[in-house]
Amino acid sequence: MDIKKLEQRYEGKAKKVYATSDPAYYIVEYKDDATAFNGLKHGTISGKGVINNKMSNLMFQLLEKAGVKTHFVEQLSDRETVVKAVEIVPLEIIIRNVAAGSFSKRYGVAEGTALKCPTLEFSLKNDELNDPLINDSHIIALGVATEKELDEIRTLAYKVNDVLREFFAGIGVKLIDFKIEAGRLPDGTIILADEISPDNCRFWDVVTHEKLDKDRFRHDLGGVEEAYQEMLRRLTL
Ligand code: UDP
Repeated sequence: MDIKKLEQRYEGKAKKVYATSDPAYYIVEYKDDATAFNGLKHGTISGKGVINNKMSNLMFQLLEKAGVKTHFVEQLSDRETVVKAVEIVPLEIIIRNVAAGSFSKRYGVAEGTALKCPTLEFSLKNDELNDPLINDSHIIALGVATEKELDEIRTLAYKVNDVLREFFAGIGVKLIDFKIEAGRLPDGTIILADEISPDNCRFWDVVTHEKLDKDRFRHDLGGVEEAYQEMLRRLTL
């Protein structure tokens, strides 16, 4: 793809986003920086950016094949990918299959407890407010998204869960929970954006329940780089 990288538009915790010579596209660049607990903990996971770029792109292609619209266009280099320019809906969309993390804490449910059905929750993407939980009526009342957009986001999120859960089961990985983000194309279509990687999914080995995700960094469990490498290895076997 003949596209030129222009000025940086945004720098997040794990990625930078650049404008390009074509306003319909951005280039994202994945970094090795890692943060946890809303930025309180900082660190580097060596090689993470390369792994997350590759893994996200494989996941987006898998999802596209299953009929999910995503922002993926083309990988440019180890750390860079061309994506469709979208306006991000400022929500963290979280799906859970098994209790863990903040859900376990909030409801006093042991980590690892299977849920009777997948759950969906939203947090408002706002670092200053610590990404507070937000319900559907609040989202609509505040104009964060319309009711129709929320319907589309919910359908998209559950579909992503169905496709990913089945796929990961096939490589011996249990998809515990994950966070996705949605974006609006200029015509208003809602598509899947952001990334799908061990940074924003919880992955457990099906047999040993070993954690293969950012929880190793969050809780100083050691073997952080190895866990990311292991996920990519299983994906590309
Ligand atoms: N998550 C994320 N970004 C956030 C918060 C959560 O990617 O700012 C992901 C996290 O990796 C996990 C899922 O969303 O896969 C659910 O996270 P949880 O609400 O349990 O929060 P945490 O325990 O990470 O604070």
